[in-house]
Amino acid sequence: MSTVLKTCTATATLNTGSKIPLLGLGTWRSTKDKGYAAVRKALDAGYRHIDSAAVCMNEQVIGKAIRDSGIPRNEVFVTAKLWSTQHRQPGKALEQSLDRLGLDYVDLYIMHWPLAFKTDRLSSKNYMVIPTNAEKKPDVDTDWNHVKTWELMQYLPKRGGTKAIGVSNCSIRHLKEILDSQGNKIVPAINQIEAHPFLPQDDMLDFCHDKGIIMEAYSPLGSDGAPFLKEPVVREIAKRYHVDTAQLLISWGLQRGYVVLPKSTNLERIVSNSQTFELAKEDFIRLHELAQERGTKRVHSPPWFFFE
Ligand code: NDP
Repeated sequence: MSTVLKTCTATATLNTGSKIPLLGLGTWRSTKDKGYAAVRKALDAGYRHIDSAAVCMNEQVIGKAIRDSGIPRNEVFVTAKLWSTQHRQPGKALEQSLDRLGLDYVDLYIMHWPLAFKTDRLSSKNYMVIPTNAEKKPDVDTDWNHVKTWELMQYLPKRGGTKAIGVSNCSIRHLKEILDSQGNKIVPAINQIEAHPFLPQDDMLDFCHDKGIIMEAYSPLGSDGAPFLKEPVVREIAKRYHVDTAQLLISWGLQRGYVVLPKSTNLERIVSNSQTFELAKEDFIRLHELAQERGTKRVHSPPWFFFE
């Protein structure tokens, strides 16, 4: 079988009318020189979408790489995220992110988790943490919630620091609570969640389609160390197509019609991850059956959160 690999340039249209490239570079753990080089390499290779998050503490290098690339700002889709210690002040948090990125605006500003942490014990310098209470458990702010945060976030696009707003790690219940709340005026443009063949998120995908929300898949390779690339079925299908296992999983996600965010700081892998192809229907379905066959696997289950 000869496989035609192409640099992924596909886009989706957000509910704001703007386009979002379906392939984005993930940047968790892409720090310092490696993070800078990764973003530069990705932009050279044709990526036009960079995912970032304040809590990853690498906005300075990501922003610098975007600025140094020489690519016109309006040709790169940049995402930033509101960390859970700043839910009561999303406007201030966005300004701080823009300052660290060295950008006038981002294309998308996302609520990273639909829950807030207490900030009583934090100084203005150590905001990007998971604060703990006296029992050494995550210090969740139970007097606040994601709906209140969303109500505040809705003012941000008008203020100009972001073109669109979205959420991350929201379940269907969280999304319904936002959509059904009296103060809601804007439907989230995005829900960024963990998705891969072991967690295909079918119900969420249907719900998002129905509401005009674009789904984004994080940890498409299984996160740190890319464990899903070692799966026998993944290896067997990739071998038949003469492609990398990562190219197979990324292409599968793209073919499902959502944004896929593979992370790499390896310059060769950044390029190869951007080369995608179309799977035959039977292989597309075969990967989709993995979760049923082998059981679902969720890579990220932080102790402060229930995905329901
Ligand atoms: P990924 O599934 O993208 O996997 C990253 C791992 O795969 C790294 O160890 C990387 O190593 C390795 N890798 C990448 N490409 C290849 C390849 N071709 N061959 C072999 N190994 C490879 O995991 P992430 O958890 O990083 O998720 C992607 C992005 O999604 C994040 O970076 C972040 O931007 C976002 N995210 C968002 C979250 C949220 O709560 N909203 C949570 C988690 C992630 P190497 O760098 O050495 O190539």
